[in-house]
Amino acid sequence: MSVALVTGANRGIGFETARQLVELGHLVYIGARDAERGGEAAASLGARFVQLDVTDDLSVANALGTIGDVEGQLDILVNNAGIQEFGDIDGPMALRAFDTNAVGVVRVTEAALPLLKKSSNPTVVTVSSSAGSFWAVNNPDRVESQLRNLLYAASKAAATMLTVQYAKSHPDIKFNALEPGYTATDMTAAFDGGRPPAQSAQTVVRLATLAPDGPTGTFQDEDGHLHW
Ligand code: NAP
Repeated sequence: MSVALVTGANRGIGFETARQLVELGHLVYIGARDAERGGEAAASLGARFVQLDVTDDLSVANALGTIGDVEGQLDILVNNAGIQEFGDIDGPMALRAFDTNAVGVVRVTEAALPLLKKSSNPTVVTVSSSAGSFWAVNNPDRVESQLRNLLYAASKAAATMLTVQYAKSHPDIKFNALEPGYTATDMTAAFDGGRPPAQSAQTVVRLATLAPDGPTGTFQDEDGHLHW
């Protein structure tokens, strides 16, 4: 049974990813910053809860320390936690966007690396966004070219680049980023439409459960490779 950690897994795409990984037989840790919400989510899925705020170094260190003490290794890391804020842009808002969506990926990945290196098939998946694709935002045929969310797009571009650089730095670990598809979650509640989180989670799970010889350093959506 492989051990998985999903950050921001108390709701939305992260919760559905955790559900599907549990159904596939993995031992899943729900990483959530709020103990009550995370504990309830974990109990409802037959998963385990670990307190994890991706913007808090101590919280991240304690979470990975707990998994290391109990499990001794980590096979799957899903960097899913993310925020999208709207309104007037200023420095603090920019810091929040990058702290969660990009620096959070670094905090959790760095803390997880020693445990991932103990796995026979270590895999890291980062839930990024096509809003951070330079190709998509400059392609008039793509909806991303119409979106105006500067900080979210820029911080997700950083998350995708971090994935590529981690893949180059750690060739024995698979690192892939993905666009889950436009999904009806709390993040998109102010807008119309969006598909069910369970559908989007399928792409996350596909990349989280790659065979040892699977791809690394890629950016994908449900149809396969996505342009940078
Ligand atoms: P969501 O329903 O808003 O869920 C976001 C999750 O991230 C929540 O569990 C939230 O926890 C957690 N989170 C936020 N900040 C955190 C922090 N500092 N530490 C730990 N957890 C934190 O959004 P979603 O749509 O499922 O988004 C999941 C991922 O998919 C995000 O990275 C998002 O950018 C990406 N994505 C979504 C869409 C879409 O259409 N929905 C499209 C492309 C990419 P709390 O409950 O504590 O706030």
